[in-house]
Amino acid sequence: MPVLSKIRLLTPGPTDVPPAVLLEMAQPIIHHRTQQFQDIFAELSQRLQRVFRTSEPVLTLAGSGTTAFEAAQINLVKPGSKVLTIAGGKFGERWQDIYDTYAPTLGITENIKLNVPWGEAVSAQQVEEVLKANPDISVVVLVNSETSTATASDVKAIAAVVSKTDALLLVDGITSVGTMPVEMDAWGIDVLVTGSQKALMLPPGLGFVGLGKRAQQRLKEVKPTGYYNLDLRKWLKSWANQDVPFTPPVSLIRGQRVALEMIETEGLENVWARSNALATASRTAFTAMGLELISKSPSDSVTGAYYPEGVTDKALRNGTRDNHNVHIAGGQDGRGASWKGKIFRISNMGYVDAGDTLAALLAIEMELIACGCKIKPGTAVAAAGEIFAKPLAV
Ligand SMILES: *Cc1c(COP(=O)(O)O)cnc(C)c1O
Repeated sequence: MPVLSKIRLLTPGPTDVPPAVLLEMAQPIIHHRTQQFQDIFAELSQRLQRVFRTSEPVLTLAGSGTTAFEAAQINLVKPGSKVLTIAGGKFGERWQDIYDTYAPTLGITENIKLNVPWGEAVSAQQVEEVLKANPDISVVVLVNSETSTATASDVKAIAAVVSKTDALLLVDGITSVGTMPVEMDAWGIDVLVTGSQKALMLPPGLGFVGLGKRAQQRLKEVKPTGYYNLDLRKWLKSWANQDVPFTPPVSLIRGQRVALEMIETEGLENVWARSNALATASRTAFTAMGLELISKSPSDSVTGAYYPEGVTDKALRNGTRDNHNVHIAGGQDGRGASWKGKIFRISNMGYVDAGDTLAALLAIEMELIACGCKIKPGTAVAAAGEIFAKPLAV
């Protein structure tokens, strides 16, 4: 490992945590049935509502993003109805698996799987066609930013289609909330979910569920069957009293309040613009080095490229880690594709700035050159520099 080198965690989750947040989490533990905790929790909830762009409740669950999304999925299905699960990557496929697992318990008559090739986004028209042919769909599941493929979907257009039907739209915003514009209320998203360890600058451990009006209504209509801790009715009831039903991870909640304060001090739109600049810079730099991007509809939260001929996953990622302290991610395998060993990804989310991105790009370039790629030294940094020289797109 290089001496006197700063560790840069540029994996698309978990992401780096700011020192102010780490210090807040080192505070002594407080009891949660106290006014002190309720004040912290109330402030956190209000900040979450502003980051989700909603005036409706945003619940804070103990668990990872998957816990929060699983809760959203299982609470909102009408017994005896169909669900529509859209996938073009690892996470969309996970949500399909969750409904397969719960189908008998929840009384799901069919899990309609709308699959698009990895690296591509579903169109609103495709969703509309399935909804028209199946008026008995009660839930539609969509990933906004498919982290495994660095691909963004058009949530606004799809929400416009779904909100005309009785189906609820559940959006996995786990790497979009806090990175890219997502307007829960204005776009008519029924349920929006994220986790603490991606764009929200916290360690893993909290999951957030924003519940729109139609989703709250559905909770009243559907009886909970086959789950207890994840019963969102319990969480919603407590939330109304600035409380949680079970012992919360107090330190994480304290830390998340501080992290959201940092986001709001910078300004959410400025955070989006920063992530967009980092994403544009990394995409431009990858392309300048002759790499092919993995997505036809790129997300700003993560940037991915295929390995060129002769470069192995081990050589590049061990090289960036051991020689430069830059930690990046590889690819994942799923039903739609096998990308392990074929692609790599870097994050543009959360506590990351131009210096971090430039350091990562330089490390990647140096290791690619070491692997025999014909790249003129400085190509990546020069390409990124052109982007950073432009004003931010606020
Ligand atoms: C990370 C991620 C998840 C899973 O979240 P966990 O916190 O790992 O459970 C789901 N969806 C997307 C898009 C993600 O990036």
